[in-house]
Amino acid sequence: MARREHERILQDTEREQGHTALRNNVRAALALADAVRSTIGPLGLDKMLISDEGDVQVTNDGVTVLEAAKVEHPTARMLISTSSVQDDEARDGTSSAIVLTAELLLNALDWIDRGIHPSVMVAGYRIAMDHSLIAIEDISRPMEEADNIRIVSTSLAGKVGEDVRRILSNLAVETASIAADRGSSKHVDPDLIKRIIIRGGRIADCERVDGIVLRKTRLDSQTPSRLDGGKVLLLDGGLDPKELSVNASIRITEPGMMARFLQRQKQEMKERVDAIAEAGIDLLIVRDGIHEDAIPILRDAGIVTYRRVERTDLELIARACGARIVRDVQGIRSESIGEFNSVNEERWESIDHVRIHGSVGSGQTVVLRGSTDAVIDEVSRAFDDAIGVACGLQEEPKMLPGGGAIQIALARRLRSHATSIPGREQLAVEAYAAALESIPRALAENSGLDGLDQIIAITAAQTSSSNDWLGIDVTDRSIHPMNERGVLEPVRIARQAITGATESAISVLRIGDILWAKQDAQMPDWQSDINQDED
Ligand code: ADP
Ligand code: MG
Repeated sequence: MARREHERILQDTEREQGHTALRNNVRAALALADAVRSTIGPLGLDKMLISDEGDVQVTNDGVTVLEAAKVEHPTARMLISTSSVQDDEARDGTSSAIVLTAELLLNALDWIDRGIHPSVMVAGYRIAMDHSLIAIEDISRPMEEADNIRIVSTSLAGKVGEDVRRILSNLAVETASIAADRGSSKHVDPDLIKRIIIRGGRIADCERVDGIVLRKTRLDSQTPSRLDGGKVLLLDGGLDPKELSVNASIRITEPGMMARFLQRQKQEMKERVDAIAEAGIDLLIVRDGIHEDAIPILRDAGIVTYRRVERTDLELIARACGARIVRDVQGIRSESIGEFNSVNEERWESIDHVRIHGSVGSGQTVVLRGSTDAVIDEVSRAFDDAIGVACGLQEEPKMLPGGGAIQIALARRLRSHATSIPGREQLAVEAYAAALESIPRALAENSGLDGLDQIIAITAAQTSSSNDWLGIDVTDRSIHPMNERGVLEPVRIARQAITGATESAISVLRIGDILWAKQDAQMPDWQSDINQDED
């Protein structure tokens, strides 16, 4: 075979591999997106997930559906990670991000099939993303006080019942705003809010309390159950002889040696407790165990002790008390010691709890209640979402209209911007606008309406009144300004969905692009092989 002929065949093969790879990747994305599309919006369908063990879970949450799906395909896995990033960054909008990614890919493939090179689609998508991000700022509005609760409540729509939604939205907004008021910056980390789950009681009794609450009883009931202020030491370890002798192995060679060894261990332990007492500690909280021999020594030193406290709880207490967690009690430095305003043991539902008020941040605990495990699961998952959204709003108190309004508004702007783009990227910008419309389409279809008709109706309504805030309220299936309906979304969620979905789609398109690298960017011509791999 002539060398040139050989090269041509090789190139053709690569080209075909690239195209097939992209098709397969898009197919994987679409299959996944179909599973979450029907959950979008308050009237979205619930999915019943059945694990290998036969456990059944019913959920309306896209990210839960995705995490449960045992997907092997690398592209599909990447989409799942996009939705996880969305969940981490914005705590909402995960289903929308997935659906948007899949639509971006599908629309790109349409144009690629018609001869547009993937790199052109990538460039056009970047233009569209940048344009959308600027438009979002322009369309957004500052929030009024009452909008906080309305926005958090929108994010819980369809996830929990109406009452639970109201209770949790109020609780999350109250907690986040207190945390922001007390903090030094507007950045509130939802993980710094302690949650306690109590089985039993009504959901209406979910509440926020000041202080860090742990489900713990003090080690020694002869020590006081309350202290009004003092010094606290947090130990990442324990007070146990086993832990004191660093990996030492001993060989017993003569009688009395074991007894002497134990005696020495006891002595070492006493020295450690003495070191704590000398530092003037009133409250000792340790992660591991405490040997019973240490109990009377601690008591004599007037130290109240809690053991087996989780590392995450130690960190919360450290923050609230201005302490540093130490690994070793020898040579405790003053900056490691924290201060508390009070420690109090309380009985809740016949279980002992201790409440610690720090001197620096005080800390907050949210008490979640539910009658059964299933209810508790649902309530705590919903609260996680609610507190995430509520904390994000403290940092960036700006909102956008929900109900498909923002996507239609962006699509309108993109379409009119597209006409000014001289190159083929124009097509990609239009494809991007069409992909955004998949969100209002899903909202409409999930509430029994025709998706296309609703897109057209909202677009016409927005254009004729120059009002970007008109969207569809699916509770009565009518078009209204979304601020009047309280269907509102944080800017942060929309921004993250757009950047996350675009980056994710682009990286899939690039997989094909790498294989096409040797081709002329303007003229990829696969017309001949399209029919062959169509199925
Ligand atoms: P995601 O995982 O993307 O957040 P959701 O199932 O939570 O998906 O649905 C969110 C979408 O539902 C948002 O676009 C939001 O604007 C919309 N939505 C919430 N309540 C309403 C409502 N009453 N009418 C119309 N759309 C709503
Ligand atoms: Mg949501």
